Amino acid sequence: MSAPTRILRESSLFRGVGPDVTATLLERFPIRTLQAGDPLLSPDQPNHFLYVVLNGELQVLVGPAGSATSILVTAGNCVGEMSIIDGGRVSAPVVATGDSAVLGIDVDNFWRLTETVPTIARNLLGIMAERMRSTNEALALSLQLQQAYERWAFLDPLTAAYNRRWIDQTLPRYVERARRDASAFTLGVFDIDHFKRYNDTHGHPAGDAALRATVRAAQSHIRPADRLARIGGEEFCILLPDTDLPGAQIVAARLVQAIAANPVQASDGTALSGVTISLGLAQAGADSSPDDLIAAADKALYGAKRDGRNRFAS
Ligand code: GH3
Ligand code: MG
Ligand code: MG
Repeated sequence: MSAPTRILRESSLFRGVGPDVTATLLERFPIRTLQAGDPLLSPDQPNHFLYVVLNGELQVLVGPAGSATSILVTAGNCVGEMSIIDGGRVSAPVVATGDSAVLGIDVDNFWRLTETVPTIARNLLGIMAERMRSTNEALALSLQLQQAYERWAFLDPLTAAYNRRWIDQTLPRYVERARRDASAFTLGVFDIDHFKRYNDTHGHPAGDAALRATVRAAQSHIRPADRLARIGGEEFCILLPDTDLPGAQIVAARLVQAIAANPVQASDGTALSGVTISLGLAQAGADSSPDDLIAAADKALYGAKRDGRNRFAS
């Protein structure tokens, strides 16, 4: 049995067909030879052929130019079957990686073959199903990557609290939702007291550890629907949906106390002195903007600083 005959009989498309069919295929259809880098299919040119690789290897370049990844098509496998189905549209460039040979079958004859040899139609379905499965897997993976990227894009790398970008995007939605539902919404802004001195005394890495410990303590003293975000430096905000000022004052008192009692450890485990915070609260009014709300909470925060720190004000 010649090498091309053997490859065809074991190929994904023609496996299971009789020897007469493979003999006819090799007689009737042209074999194209390619060298490394020769294009077989180009997205700007229509394609009306299905190619079975008889020898060598092809490379399908998928993804945007520049960051393209490639899928290798080895002897016995085919390319072009997608453009046969959807009328000649080539979705990705295909080039040879080295000396290669392909058997090209034109669309009209290919469909005639599937009518006379049902095994070919069945094999084609199997190939399409496999393609769809790997496309779905690639889509699922790219969605997961996108979601992971989006999650990280909204998190502060030091503390894993939400970051400034998240606040800019999300605070207006909370304010708008409260207005629409006529529900209460309160914003808290807090700032670590004398944090410059803390850094000067214990060093910047200790300051970082105190920031992380503060976020951990704050996270564990708010409800699941509440959100904690780092505005920048040692300044944070808490978003308290469905919470009016008296309710928020209870949360604020709990946070101030919990952080003052929270131990801070250096990364090597050494115990460091703790920190305190000052916190300002502002409840959204019927027509307050996100900026109004931040300004009002900031003003209350500075009241708490003025009144001696380690406390909240509203
Ligand atoms: P106050 O009680 O009035 O808030 O005084 P303060 O010293 O906390 O305020 P100030 O704004 O003077 O100092 C803030 C300090 O926070 C200065 C800066 O070095 C420190 N800081 C800001 N971001 C970080 C950070 O990511 N890591 C560390 N370690 N320190 C930070
Ligand atoms: Mg401070
Ligand atoms: Mg500050």
